[in-house]
Amino acid sequence: MQPPSLVAYSSEDDDDDQPPPPKRRKLPPLPASLLPQVPIDDPSKHQGRTRTTPHVEGQFAAYIYVSLFVDPNSRLYALIDDILRDARKTVPSLCEIALQDGGKELHVSLSRPTYLRAHQREHLKRAVKAVAKQYSPFTASFAALSDLTNDERTRTFITMEVGAGHAELRAMADALTPTLKSIRQKEFYTDPRFHASIAWALLDSPSPSPPPASSPPLNLQSPSSSQTPPSHSTPPPLAIPPPLQPTFSTIPHLPPSLIPSLNASHAPTLSSPSIGSFHVDTVNVKIGKQIFSWGLSGAPLE
Ligand code: AMP
Repeated sequence: MQPPSLVAYSSEDDDDDQPPPPKRRKLPPLPASLLPQVPIDDPSKHQGRTRTTPHVEGQFAAYIYVSLFVDPNSRLYALIDDILRDARKTVPSLCEIALQDGGKELHVSLSRPTYLRAHQREHLKRAVKAVAKQYSPFTASFAALSDLTNDERTRTFITMEVGAGHAELRAMADALTPTLKSIRQKEFYTDPRFHASIAWALLDSPSPSPPPASSPPLNLQSPSSSQTPPSHSTPPPLAIPPPLQPTFSTIPHLPPSLIPSLNASHAPTLSSPSIGSFHVDTVNVKIGKQIFSWGLSGAPLE
């Protein structure tokens, strides 16, 4: 019995008496089970965000953070809504962060996004658990609004920056540094600005490359609609339109007056203890799609 062939021949190859032209082989599509399971980066599903690090098989995105659930009935929730409404008057393309279960779950990062090999996951989990054992719960509070940009300069963020509690968060982030270094990851910023991001906007690409002057315009007409009949000696140039991509608004940067004016209107409310303070009693690490959390149970920081 012949093994199943992976090669198919196009019908043009069979129907004439001429010596057969060189065979054009079309491979049939592989069954899905044999295809590598690589997630496809589709910015249209993520409001235009692109992966800043390409997916690598067997590599897991991870980051360490403390979370803060903002109840929809709280004054902080109403304040964030006010801030976003005001900010959108100047930057309508701002996207809101993390709406969940009717409330907002905000994160204060203790690490940069980290990329782990499978065998490093337990190592990082142990380190986060050890930090949880070492530090005790504390109260932190937001002091003001600020803007930050990611390292790749693809997104800019409006954030609520932590004032009180900075020392405790810094101690926790510092305690993770040896582990991050041992798995060859960048430590957190030398000048960390602990914050909860509340909105972001896509930034213009740094170097938009203009099309080369000599490149011909794309021929989107079908050959039958062209004025001159196509010559049979030279095949018409292939005109394959690029797939239609939704476009997302980008900005060069946040207007310089935005953060000062948001602070003038909202920082006094944000920094009031009854609104902008929150309790930190848990530390989390997200590895791939899984989240692991440990309660802080150590001695208070001196
Ligand atoms: P996050 O809300 O934690 O995702 O942070 C928003 C962005 O702020 C991240 O992409 C960080 O890389 C960026 N960032 C820039 N400078 C700093 C800094 N000094 N401290 C903390 N985050 C920063």
